[in-house]
Amino acid sequence: MSAEWIRPRTLQEALAIRSARHVRPLAGATDLYVRYRGIAGTLPALSEAVMYIGHLNELTAISVHEHQLRIGAAAVYTDVAAHPATPGILKNAIAELGAPALRNVGTLGGNIGNASPAADAVCTLYALDAQVELASLGGARRVPIDAVITGPGQTAIAEDELITAILVPLGYDSFSFYRKVGTRRANALSKLAFAACGEVEDYTLGHLGVAIAAVGPTVIRSRELEERMRGADGRKIANLRNELIAGYLALVAPISDQRSTAQYRRWVTENLLIEFLDRCLPSNLNGPQ
Ligand SMILES: Cc1cc2nc3c(=O)[nH]c(=O)nc-3n(C[C@H](O)[C@H](O)[C@H](O)COP(=O)(O)OP(=O)(O)OC[C@H]3O[C@@H](n4cnc5c(N)ncnc54)[C@H](O)[C@@H]3O)c2cc1C
Repeated sequence: MSAEWIRPRTLQEALAIRSARHVRPLAGATDLYVRYRGIAGTLPALSEAVMYIGHLNELTAISVHEHQLRIGAAAVYTDVAAHPATPGILKNAIAELGAPALRNVGTLGGNIGNASPAADAVCTLYALDAQVELASLGGARRVPIDAVITGPGQTAIAEDELITAILVPLGYDSFSFYRKVGTRRANALSKLAFAACGEVEDYTLGHLGVAIAAVGPTVIRSRELEERMRGADGRKIANLRNELIAGYLALVAPISDQRSTAQYRRWVTENLLIEFLDRCLPSNLNGPQ
């Protein structure tokens, strides 16, 4: 028997359904359908009622308000990348996420809802200090991205809530660095992803976010280590280099899985840290990379 399929007409109706009963939200289906896939040529064997939300206008709009980009949770990657206000580092991550067909249906809301430690867009949202808007019939709340994802496949999204938008502060990415390491250039989930962005003025680092995906149960970010880099010029970064690399390597706890080994992920983490810190040398620290 196939699972029940619900198609609300408005966000309000979707929230009313969420508050009344258990339904699984469905946007691009690029994670959910893969999870429940059966043999070739058959429909996914969904085990619970699903509520399609990808068509709701309230969830697909992208707009700018007071130095903040508001991306509807169900806006597809292609539209997010095409928006003029989308930070370059998020565009870079999207350009390497899946393939064009996937980017035409996949969403940031789904990347967050799936809560994979290897999620590329989520990694970039950590570095950008994004917040997630969660709404229920009772109202909306804004939660920092690192408080929404609590473990592999686990989130702090309540049973009656939906992700309605992702809020990205604008103007904090004059310096950015993004690397994805995967088996292929397209259509491959990351063995590891590294996203860093921040402010640079007079060859000195200001606000900074550094995030590493697929090296722990959630994306790794250390505000303590970032604080040590804040205010540093290239010379100071060079002096701190070994300490910073040791600090990040102490935080990562990669596993071996079908995509890579724990050891390989540690090596790549170290190499990307070295590359990133080299970018922070005085001669290089002069704008987007
Ligand atoms: C071939 C292939 C390649 C891929 N490549 C990459 C890659 O390179 N990088 C990467 O990070 N991912 C990749 N993915 C994974 C997937 O495409 C992304 O995670 C995508 O962002 C999921 O979005 P979606 O809209 O399809 O989510 P869906 O499958 O619709 O939903 C995923 C989960 O999120 C929940 N959800 C969705 N929207 C909401 C909402 N608004 N509120 C609450 N919960 C919600 C759903 O209930 C479900 O649990 C790939 C997948 C495939 C099949």
